[in-house]
Amino acid sequence: MTEKIILQVQKHLPNIDLDIISQGAEALVFQTKTHPYCSNPYLKNNQKFIIKFRPSKPYRHPKIDFQITKSRTIGEAKFIYKLNKLGLPSPSLISCDFNNGIIWMENLGINLPNGNVSSFKNWLWYLEKNESIEDCTSAEVEEVCFKVGQLIGKLHLNEMIHGDLTTSNIILTDDSNKWDPALIDFGLSTFSGLAEDKAVDLYVLERAITSTHSVFAEKYNSWLLEGYKSAHELKEFKKIGKKKYDETIKRLEDVRLRGRKRSMLG
Ligand code: AMP
Repeated sequence: MTEKIILQVQKHLPNIDLDIISQGAEALVFQTKTHPYCSNPYLKNNQKFIIKFRPSKPYRHPKIDFQITKSRTIGEAKFIYKLNKLGLPSPSLISCDFNNGIIWMENLGINLPNGNVSSFKNWLWYLEKNESIEDCTSAEVEEVCFKVGQLIGKLHLNEMIHGDLTTSNIILTDDSNKWDPALIDFGLSTFSGLAEDKAVDLYVLERAITSTHSVFAEKYNSWLLEGYKSAHELKEFKKIGKKKYDETIKRLEDVRLRGRKRSMLG
C-alpha cells in the first residue's frame, strides 16, 4: 500500500529525492534535500525540507476526494501562513500544490543524541531515560514547558486552535544552545475565538502529557499553564488578556470534569 502511495507522490514530484519519515491516516511526511525553486549551491550544507502529502483515498468518489484533499491542504497551508505572518514559531511555508495535496515546508527538527527527532515528547523521554530526577525537573525543563505554554497562549490569543496538541506535534529547535518550541501538524487546526475550543486544545495537551510523561506530568502541566497565563499578561494583549484567560481556564475546569465523568463511565 505504502509503495503505491509513494508512486503517487513520485508522479507529482518527479526526480525529487524522498525519504519517508512518517505515515499517518491522513498524510505521509517525507524529508528531501531538494528545494522547489532554489538550486542546491545556495542551500546550507545538509539542509533538508519536509514534504507533506495527502494521498487520494480509493474508497472516496474521485470528485469528492479531490475536493476534500484540496480543501484540507489549503486549510493547513493557510494556518501555517498565518502563523508565519504572526511570527509564531512554526515551519516556514515553502511551496504548495493544492490539487495534488502537497505542502513543502521548512524542516524544524534536529536530532537528539539518541538519533530521534527533537520533538517535545522525544526530548522529555530522552531526559526521563538518561538523566536523574533532578534533571527531569530542572530549570531548563521548567523553561521549555513555560515556553510551550506561552506559545499556545499566543496562538489562542490570535483565535487559532491547533486541534491536535500532543507532545509529538511540538518540535524543539536549538537556538544558540537553548530549546525553543515550535508547532507542527495543522491538519485539524481551526480559527476560533471560543473559550470552549481553547480549553479543549489545552485539555488534549494536558492528557497527552499525563499519559506519555506520567511521572512528572503534574509539574510539566503546571509550568505549561504558567506559560499560558504569561502570554495573556504580555503588553500587546493587556486589554483582553485577563478576560480571555479567565474564560478559558474556567472552561478548562468544565472540560476536565466532562473528561473525568466520561472515563468513569468507561
Ligand atoms: P504530521 O503528519 O504533520 O504530524 O507529521 C508527522 C511527523 O513528521 C511529525 O511527528 C514530525 O516528526 C515530522 N514532521 C512533520 N513536519 C515537520 C517539520 N516541519 N519539521 C520537522 N519534522 C516534521
